[in-house]
Amino acid sequence: MSSLHYWNYPTEIFCGPGALDALAERCSLLGMRNPLLVTDPGMLALEPLALLKAHLSDTGLPFGLFSDIASNPSMDDVRRGVAAFKAGNHDSLIALGGGSAMDAAKGISLAAIDAEGLERFEWSQVIAHYPTLADFPRLGLPRLVALPTTAGTGSELGREAVLTQSELNVKRVISHPELLPACVILDPVLTRGLPPTLTAATGMDALTHHIEAFCSPLYHPMSSGVAVEGVRLIQQHLVDAVSDGQNMAAREGMLVASAMAAVAFQKGLGGVHALAHPLGARYHKHHGLLNAILLPYVLIANQAAISFDIARLARYLELQQPDFNGFLDWVLDLRQRLGIPHSLQLIGINDEAASWVGEQALADISSSDTNACVLSAADYSQIFRNAVHGVLPGVTP
Ligand SMILES: [Zn+2]
Repeated sequence: MSSLHYWNYPTEIFCGPGALDALAERCSLLGMRNPLLVTDPGMLALEPLALLKAHLSDTGLPFGLFSDIASNPSMDDVRRGVAAFKAGNHDSLIALGGGSAMDAAKGISLAAIDAEGLERFEWSQVIAHYPTLADFPRLGLPRLVALPTTAGTGSELGREAVLTQSELNVKRVISHPELLPACVILDPVLTRGLPPTLTAATGMDALTHHIEAFCSPLYHPMSSGVAVEGVRLIQQHLVDAVSDGQNMAAREGMLVASAMAAVAFQKGLGGVHALAHPLGARYHKHHGLLNAILLPYVLIANQAAISFDIARLARYLELQQPDFNGFLDWVLDLRQRLGIPHSLQLIGINDEAASWVGEQALADISSSDTNACVLSAADYSQIFRNAVHGVLPGVTP
């Protein structure tokens, strides 16, 4: 606790059923005159987009629509979005959707103002040149209002965008403080149509964010506190949100937990994300599903470093066995109740690329200083093999 710490907390948030009604007034107060609405193609026929378009039409705010993005948005998607932003003379952005729409909108915001921004503010450049948020140059990026339709990534409260560099099959994390949306609207009505499998996978992503942030060795007690309550909210609401998508209390609880996770992971993420990022880029599997499968294997790899803190978390959750093993059992039971597969081979991933996965995981942003303990490329390769074959070391079936 002897060194100095830089902490920064997020933005204005409107939360609850009907929070969408605040959108037009917020856009007006933020000086947004002609926003570009960014969403993913899967949203085009769905209720949230219809609700949002009706709301904007009622208020007379002109807007454009851009939906030409992949489920793991690429830098090419962003470049096409920038062209649409400029062609429509837009001055601001509204992101509607899950992490893909949020990250694409953030990328468009940055690249529209700074043609080199996606390279200048890539993570390896950021740690070399901008050690704290206060060190970044101010760019005057377009205002962004974020409306999540999933409860998982927390990207609406983040200053990062994860974009795939298609030619290399790698994900790049772009970071700038002005990527944080100026306003976030958490309306559970916008998430009620999310199918159970996606509700489960995205919810497990949020859970992983909280657990990895909580276990990160970086000193940030405020984020640790947020993570503990975030895990409890997921314990209370995720199964209900999956089993009854119309349960607004459960949907709202998960939206709040997901947003809180982005606050918590200012403290950093860990080995689950270090592995999920290259696996997502190579095998094009859902990020939350990958995290959900990987989580127990990484917890076991980190056990020696995290068992004391995990026991504190288990006591807060009032688990019957408030220690590491009791917590691991709770995670495994939750996964099973949500229908999450136990191994990567069950979703079509084999261990042929284990060496590559280990090297990529070691190079990932989440592996650097923020995993609970130091893991080597060989360690990551072994965790990956365990996850492929469903082997939990030290756990008797
Ligand atoms: Zn994640």
